Parts: sequence; C-alpha cells; structure tokens
Amino acid sequence: MGTPLPSELGVVQPTPPDLSPADAARITADAFGLTVEATQLGSHQDRNFLLRLGTGDAPTKLLLKVANPGTSAVELECQSAAAERIAERAPDVRVPRSRPGHSGATAMAVEHEGEQLHARVLEFLDGSTLSGSGYLSPGTVRAIGRLAATVDLALADFDLPGIERVHQWDLRRAPEVLDALLPYIGDAALRGRVRAAADAAWAVVERHADELPEQVIHGDLTDDNVVWSDPITKRPDGVIDLGDLNLSWTVGELAITVSSLLHHDGIDLPAALCAVTAYHALRPLSAAEAAVLWPLVVLRGAILVASGHHVVATDPGNAYAAENLGHELAILEAAVSVPMPVASALVAAAIGHAGEDTTGDTGSVRLPAHGPLLEGVTDADVTVLDFSATSPELHEGRWLFGDAEADIAAAALATGTATMTRFGEPRLTRSTPLGGDEPANTALGIELTLAAPTNLLAPWAGVLEETLDGIELRGDGLTLKLDGAERLPVAGAAVSRGQRIGRVASVDGPATLGVRVERDGADAPWFTRASLARAWRAVVGDPTPLVLGRTLPDPRQDPTDLVARRERALADVQEHYYDEPPMIVRGWRDLLIDADGRVYLDSVNNVTSIGHAHPRLVDAVTEQWKLLNTNSRFNYPAVVDFAERLGALLPDGLDQVFLVNSGSEAVDLALRIARAASGRRDVLAVREAYHGWTDLSDAVSTSIADNPNALETRPDWVHTIDAPNSYRGRYRGPDASRYAVDAVAEVERLAEAGTPVGAFIAETFYGNAGGIALPDGYLEAVYAAVRAHGGIAVADEVQVGYGRLGDWFWGFEQQGVVPDVVAVAKAVGNGQPLGAVITTREIAERFRTNGYFFSSAGGSPVSSVVGVTVLDVIRDERLQENARDTGAYFRARLEELAERHPLIGAVHGSGFYLGVELVRDRETLEPATEETAAICERMRELGVIIQPTSDRQCVLKVKPPLNFSRESADVFVSALDRVLTTGW
Ligand code: PMP
Repeated sequence: MGTPLPSELGVVQPTPPDLSPADAARITADAFGLTVEATQLGSHQDRNFLLRLGTGDAPTKLLLKVANPGTSAVELECQSAAAERIAERAPDVRVPRSRPGHSGATAMAVEHEGEQLHARVLEFLDGSTLSGSGYLSPGTVRAIGRLAATVDLALADFDLPGIERVHQWDLRRAPEVLDALLPYIGDAALRGRVRAAADAAWAVVERHADELPEQVIHGDLTDDNVVWSDPITKRPDGVIDLGDLNLSWTVGELAITVSSLLHHDGIDLPAALCAVTAYHALRPLSAAEAAVLWPLVVLRGAILVASGHHVVATDPGNAYAAENLGHELAILEAAVSVPMPVASALVAAAIGHAGEDTTGDTGSVRLPAHGPLLEGVTDADVTVLDFSATSPELHEGRWLFGDAEADIAAAALATGTATMTRFGEPRLTRSTPLGGDEPANTALGIELTLAAPTNLLAPWAGVLEETLDGIELRGDGLTLKLDGAERLPVAGAAVSRGQRIGRVASVDGPATLGVRVERDGADAPWFTRASLARAWRAVVGDPTPLVLGRTLPDPRQDPTDLVARRERALADVQEHYYDEPPMIVRGWRDLLIDADGRVYLDSVNNVTSIGHAHPRLVDAVTEQWKLLNTNSRFNYPAVVDFAERLGALLPDGLDQVFLVNSGSEAVDLALRIARAASGRRDVLAVREAYHGWTDLSDAVSTSIADNPNALETRPDWVHTIDAPNSYRGRYRGPDASRYAVDAVAEVERLAEAGTPVGAFIAETFYGNAGGIALPDGYLEAVYAAVRAHGGIAVADEVQVGYGRLGDWFWGFEQQGVVPDVVAVAKAVGNGQPLGAVITTREIAERFRTNGYFFSSAGGSPVSSVVGVTVLDVIRDERLQENARDTGAYFRARLEELAERHPLIGAVHGSGFYLGVELVRDRETLEPATEETAAICERMRELGVIIQPTSDRQCVLKVKPPLNFSRESADVFVSALDRVLTTGW
C-alpha cells in the first residue's frame, strides 16, 4: 500500500449541485410536508437554506441541509441521533435537532436533476458563532471548554452502526492524513517545519495511544461551530454542525476546540488553557490524555495548514479557503510557540497536576551530580542581586533607566568579588513601562559579574563547543550555555568533570557571564513571561547551584493565594477590585506594578493625587517620623502650617479648619457642625450619592451601587432630591435647569411641613454619578433656598476637589457659589489618612454646643506634613494646570473614540475627573452595565486599571493621579479603542 490518496481519506468532498431557493422550498414540501419560504445560506460542504415556516412576526426558523453526495444517509442519521442524544443528556446545550420526513427518517432521499441527494430539516439556532479572530474573554473560553466536556459526556456511550468512517479530521489518522496532504504545501521551508512539528508531536502521542479512551465525538467543536444567544456575555451555549461526528480519541475533541482558539485576539497559551481547566472540571483528563493534549493541538494545527493548502491547490477559486490560510498558520505558530514539554507543563498546571510527572513528559529539569562552575569563587563571595518589583534598589523610578541592572551590579561589585542575578525572577528592570501585554521579563538563566578574571570548570562531563555567544557544554542530555566565556585550550571536545573549560575576563569593567541550563535542543529564550516561567522549567534548569552550591527560595508569590488569605482574614463585605486581582506591590507616578513586575497604568486613583511614591513626600514623611508623631493636642508647627494653607485656598471667611482621618469622618463632622449651627436635624441630600460609611455620612448616602437597599432604609430625617443628571435623568439638556426648581420646591415643602432643612449636602460636581457637572445655577438656587430657611450648605469635595477639575481647585467654584462648610479628604493626603472640614468662625463657634472636638491622629505631625507637602507639590509641579491641559486633551481623544464606537454614549467631566458612559442604545440610553464590567477586565489584561461607577455601573470613572501624562492618556485611549474594536 503506498500513501493513501486524499480521496481515500475522505479529504476530497464532491460538492452538492446548485439549488435555488425554490428548489429548497419544493424539496422541503415534498419530503417533509412543510410549506416554507427558503433563503440560501453560505456553506462549504453542504447546501444550506434558512426556512421560514408560518407567517406573521414570528415564523419558525428551520434549516434545510442538502448533504454533499459524499456523505451517506447512514452518517446523516447518526448525526441526527447524536443531536437527539445531546439534547436529552445535556438540556442546557442548544443543539439543532432534526425533523423526521415522511418516511420517519431524518435524511430524506430527494431527486434533483437526475441526481440522488439527501436532505435534512434541522432546528435553526439563533445567535452567532465565535468565527473570526476577535477577542475571547476568559469567561468565553471557559464556556467553550465546558461545552466540549458536556458534549463528550453526553455522547460517551453513543453508538450506531456506520458511525466509524475514514475521516481526515480523525486525529488517530494524523500521520496518513499528513502524508497525503503535506505535498500540497508548495513552500518547502514551511512544509519542512510543519512536518517536523507534526513528527515530534506524533512521537509523544504514539507513546500513549493505547491508553487513550475513544468514543463518538463532535469532531469539530470549534469557534466556528459554537453559538451564543446572549449578545451581552457572548458565552457560547449551543453547538452546531455535527458533520464531522466520528469515533475517535475523546481528548481529540478538546485538542480541536483548543486549537481553534489560538488565532483569536487576546488568546495566548495560558488564556487558551482556561478551556482545558473548564473541560477537566466536568470530564477529568487522565494523565495520558493530559500528556497528549498539546501534541494533538500541534497535529490539528499541522493538518489545518496542510488541508488549507490542499484546498487552495485543488480549488484555486475557493476564496474562503485562501483567506483561512492565515488563521490556520496562526494556530500552528501559536501551538509550536513554546517547546512541547513546556506546553504540556502548562496543561498540567491548568488541570492542577503541576509538578507531578506521571508520564515522563513534563517533569522539571534537574541538574546532574555536579561540581562548581567558578574556580575559586564560593557562596560567600557572591552578592545576589534583586531586580524584582519590590527591590529596594529600584525606588524612585530607577527601574526605568536602561542601565539600572549594570549600575546596581557595579555598585555591589565595588565591595565584593561577584554578583549574581536570580533564576526565575520576574525583573522590574525588564518590564514595559506603560501598559501593553504581559512583558517577557522573567529570567531563565543567571547572570554573573566578576571583579577578577575567573576560570570556568566543567560541572559535569560532556562535550565542549564554541558558539557565537560563548561556549556550551553538552552532557547528560543537558546543554550548559556559558555566554561571554572564552574557551580554554582543551584537547579534543570531550571534557571531564572539574576540568578547566573556559575563562571570563574583561579589559574594561567587570567580566560578565550568562549561565543557562537546558535540555538539548530546547533553545529557550533568556527571558519569558512570568505566566510561562514555571512551565519552562520542563526544559530549563536552575543553574544557581553551580555557583552557590544551593538553590535560592522561589522569589515569586502566588497572587491567588494572597486573595484566598485576604478573603479568610478580611470580612467579606469589603470588596476588592477584579475577580483575579494582580498583586500590586509598587507604585510610581501614575503607574502601579504587580509582583511579577508587570506595569499597569493607574487611571482610577484619585486618592493618590500627586502620584505614587512621590520622593518629596517620602522624604518629608520619613523626616517627620524621625522627629515626632503624636496626637494633635500638642503644639507643633506642622498642623498650624497645614491649617493656614488650607484656609488660604478657600474663599474669605472659610478659614476655620478641623482635621480628621478620612472622607467619611469629614462628612460626618461637617453634618454635625451644620446641624449644631442650624439647630435642626433634617438633612437634604441628593440621590445616587455616596458620602461615607459612618452613621451620619452613610445616612445621607443613597447610591444603590454601594447599598442596594439605600433608598428604603434612610432615617426619617434624611430627605432626598433627584440626582441632577443632565444626561440621563428626568430632565435632560436644556431642561436640566428644572432640577433646581424641583429642589427648591422640596426645600419649601419641608419648611412648610415643619421639618425645615438644617443641612443640605451635595457633591459639587457629580463624581459618583460619573463625573457629570451640575446644571448651571443649580447650587446657587438650592443654597439660597436652604439658607433662606435657616439651613447650612455643605459641600462634599472629597472626590472632586483639590485641583482635579483643572479649571477649578474646588468643585463649588464651577457653580459660582461659596458653601458654608466644606468636607475634603482623599487627595489631601495622597493616601495618608487625612481629611478636613473647613467652615466659618461663626459656624465653628456654634459647634461648641457639642462640647470639645478632638481627633487623636487627625492632623498629627506626620499627617500635617503630608498635607503641606501635597499642596507644595500640586503648586510646584503645576498639577492643577496639568489636570486642565492634559485632561482637556484626554477628553478630546475620548470624544474622538465616541465618534467611532457607538457604545460610548457620552464623555462627561472636566480635567482629571472624566466619565465615559457606555450605553447599548444612544436613544434609550440603556446602560451597558455588563459590558462596562467586561471592558474593565479586558483593560486590565491590556495593562490599564479602570473601574466602573454610577448607580448603573456603566461609566468608566477616569480619575488618575494628577501627574497623568499625555502619553498615559494616549495609552488609555488606544487600549480602550482596541477593546471596543476587538471585543471584551
Ligand atoms: N464623599 C465622597 C464623595 C466619596 O466619594 C467618598 C469615598 N468614596 C467619601 C465621601 C468617603 O471618604 P472615605 O472613603 O475617605 O471615608
């Protein structure tokens, strides 16, 4: 038997004859007794028609499939029966069931122009497939993995005569199929690569073939053949096209599914493996199945590429096949982007088998028995350098300088013999400074600097070779790569353990040596992404013991472990950002950095007004801690300096300052002062607001995003008025002036009812509603009415004050009013607990009726120094001006995005308090709540931290540190553009 012909493998499918919609309607009437209207649908192997049965608004939709003549009636009946089985066993999975024809069979023989054809009528599944290369979220990937497992479980004992057939997509036949198809790849280099990848993959599969369970599988459960019905979540919940149903290895199903994900935006290997985790949770993979999964993905990729070339070669007019070549190659490239053992180690980690190696395919590389590498250098001579995200050497943005590593090594070497970097350490020095995908920053080797020329010894026996970068020693299946080493004269290539093999020396500056150990031929990179680093251990060894005689503890902490500890230790009602939050360990300017050295753009931290780790603030605080920190009843300069500075920032008369520790305390105290001053307890507040967690500040908080029961549970002395939202509230655009009219009427009504307003509290720019300016004249009218009835006007400036709005230092300036009491916090302390209430002397005096006021740490020496320094920095670095100018630029760029993306309903705000409101429909303003949450998740994947706000959680709240740069704004806008273009 020679190589089988493509036709013997079911590769060549005769296409069915052309049929018109009228033919389709006639066939449906004759064979199925249904009167329908037919419309042609595209397809590659069969002729498909959408049928509409019945009239009116909701005709039943069906699908007529006229099979290609290569598919037998028996096979078609099998497909119908399999769909029936899935429907029975997995009622949550949508699957197109067949309608029986006149004879009771589902595949009806029909005649067309003298040719015998088989036609079936199937249910039509509404929704769309995941075709194309758009973004797939982790939730979608998990859903497709679950679908594959559910289908396999449903079909586990499915059997019908005729089910087994020779089929090119049956991965059990991969070698014959490739033999038949590879010759169609014209490009010899590509053909060679595909062949090599497939051969290596098959070698692994063959070893385990006997242990692989078989069953009937869908056989093509890919992005093209799953459908979703919910346009918001786009989670696939249906399976179509059982045309490749076949008996095969069960794990082949999953390999086919996983490979179909690999060409999508946002899908790297760890992301694709979410499908494996989800599959395994329902239908656990055996060790043998796990071991062959990735090799099967590679084989599937190879077959896709070869088959694509075959179709293009034999059917040159097939535009669909030509276009698909790119996707198919992308799948194969992704599948072979890391060596197979590395991918298999990722599979093992995805299903919780990490570290176990029951198959011999995924174990970590261990060094053989060895001697030292460096002659005359011992553990005690070596300084281990720290380039991690928490390294004390990398403060004040030093990690951003290209020569940081060399500088730090040189400084350490000035007083020592040798320095060494850490194996497996994600280096902050190698990260991408602004946003973007996960950086390749994790070292798969170690680098040494040596003060004096040093000889290198063979740690184990092997064969020595010179390379472009230095020398290599091969022995015991491992290659020891010594970059920067010179070979010493060694007779012959074979060396024994302990023999001198090389030398490192340098004429100018310290000698450097790069050391890596890898399995022969692994060709590992120097640096990889942190999420892949552990898997690379399958082919890369830790060379540290060659230098230190011991390993170092793994420098990486597991963020999921921290979340679990956090959830155990902190009461549950305290939420954290994100389901799987990065472990943030450092901040710098407008950047946040996680434990893996990944850098995120901080677009949400209004608390950090002057930016993270500001050196001037760090120095001032350190100095003050060394001098004094105590309670605020003592007499020390900082508290007076700060109070004077605050008072000077406010309009005349507002010069009496109280210092507290938070926004909640500031609001609470402001309300107590106002009630004492007015002698009334009734408070008027604006709906959809958040003012704090203390009893009083919570009482006036009505945001249902923070407390779903807020409106029903307010005490009787709290009265609320409409949120004056000019975008989506009761009054919009020019009508927004009516909010003030209604509010004034409510003030009058309360006075008449004998419960006059004692205090009116409002954010002066509607931060919590998404950065919406209050309507012109709103506060002027409400303040006047409140005061006319003896009430006090309280301004909550906790979020929006302090220069953030750009044009105005305080939000009330935008409204052209002066409040009676101002509450401020957050930005004031740049993250240090610090808040303030500022009022007039007269009002402060009236508060005396409540006794003394004292807050132990409010305005402590350290807090006061923070307060003064923050103000100095805002002034000296012109941060309010930056908020105005960069904020205007940012807003304009966001507005530009809104022109291209209909999901953006509006861009609200001013300066660095912006709100990007997302709506499903610009007419109805239906809030895009779920989309906003998903977009925030995807933005994080792209390195941008942003969160939703408003009662509808459909506004991206953009309120970054005030030193946010234009470059940062550009990064934000391009990430959002990418998400809105490629999906979330
Ligand atoms: N007022 C407003 C407008 C706020 O946004 C917040 C906090 N989100 C507070 C008060 C309470 O501040 P803190 O969290 O510092 O207590």
